[in-house]
Amino acid sequence: MSAPKTLAFIDLLAQRRRLGERIDKAVMSAVDAGQWIMGPQVREFEKRLAEFGGAKFALSCANGTDALALPLMAWDIGPGDAVFCPSFTFAATAEVVPWVGASPVFVDILPDTFNMNPADLEAAIAKTKADGKLTPKVVIAVDLFGQPADYPAIKAICDREGLKLIADSAQGFGCTLDGKHPLHWADVATTSFFPAKPLGCYGDGGAVLTNDAGLVELMDSLRVHGKATQRDVEGRSFAHDPKYLNMRVGMNSRLDTIQAAILLEKLDVYAWEIDRRNEVADRYAQQLSDVARTPAVIEGGRSTWAQYTIEVEDRDGLAQALKAVGVPTAAYYPIPLHMQPAYDSHPLSPSGLPVTLDKAKRVISLPMHPDLNVEDQDYIIQSVRNAIGANA
Ligand SMILES: *Cc1c(COP(=O)(O)O)cnc(C)c1O
Repeated sequence: MSAPKTLAFIDLLAQRRRLGERIDKAVMSAVDAGQWIMGPQVREFEKRLAEFGGAKFALSCANGTDALALPLMAWDIGPGDAVFCPSFTFAATAEVVPWVGASPVFVDILPDTFNMNPADLEAAIAKTKADGKLTPKVVIAVDLFGQPADYPAIKAICDREGLKLIADSAQGFGCTLDGKHPLHWADVATTSFFPAKPLGCYGDGGAVLTNDAGLVELMDSLRVHGKATQRDVEGRSFAHDPKYLNMRVGMNSRLDTIQAAILLEKLDVYAWEIDRRNEVADRYAQQLSDVARTPAVIEGGRSTWAQYTIEVEDRDGLAQALKAVGVPTAAYYPIPLHMQPAYDSHPLSPSGLPVTLDKAKRVISLPMHPDLNVEDQDYIIQSVRNAIGANA
């Protein structure tokens, strides 16, 4: 084995070097044009993002958390409403629910894909209805670590129960199931452009994708302080700019023009990057599946591999051994949301989420990014094999 290295977990600077001057030029042209808020790059990016994600419309916003809040606000979700979501996810998935006054109901995950378990969702809905305190309204499925949730099964449940479906694709934007994007099943798909997400910018950003024209109009109003929409002003005589007619309580959630300019360049190479991430994932699977539980992808699914997450008995021991040889790792997520002080008062599926509890103790994510070269990846793989051998 070669001398110890110091590797990056997600090497954003390698991507920056690869993209070269394209981004610098795009940024400076946005700066020089002076339209720093809602400049032409924002509309152009929304159009191209919608095309990429198989949507009629994409609406950009300030981050992936607001992207989840906007449809809930537009649908008037509020006190007394139940929103079903996994507990094994980033906090933002559930955070938006109490924001609007509603209650999350936490659902367990499947042991092989880490994504929402449709049977457990059904059990949680049945219990919520039997308890009679909350009205089921929305399901937020998460494309955890990049791979699509079981949308056909979840969508069938939503249709039967009359629930809206949001695909939280912050980690999985660009993932597909049988060649189709999550929006094929969901009412709304959301994403985040936080730098470490598969499609990231150089700051915060997010977007909502949908095929529903009326919903886009409402969310467009909500992201700019509830400004009047075309429909709002129809038949009204309002002498001022409709943006000074506030029809609803909204928020300020816009994507900066500079970030849109960066994202336009990054979207150009995004399909290529997803291919590279899949090559990295395939190499990990080939060379680690005999010593650790490597991630399974749903049949017909293609992941964007936001994370490459394996399961081992001694997660902390492996993390320490890898750290000593310059290989960073991360544990997503060590404390499930239903056990967090901010969320532990909300209801759960009657199962008690056994799979979530088990995974939280044993998952560990390895370096994953499109610029991970074979030599560095071999070093990581060899280091994992050595560490697990030593700990055995
Ligand atoms: C990152 C993330 C979000 C929130 O995105 P921000 O842009 O950080 O607000 C929401 N859901 C999931 C699953 C995420 O990973």
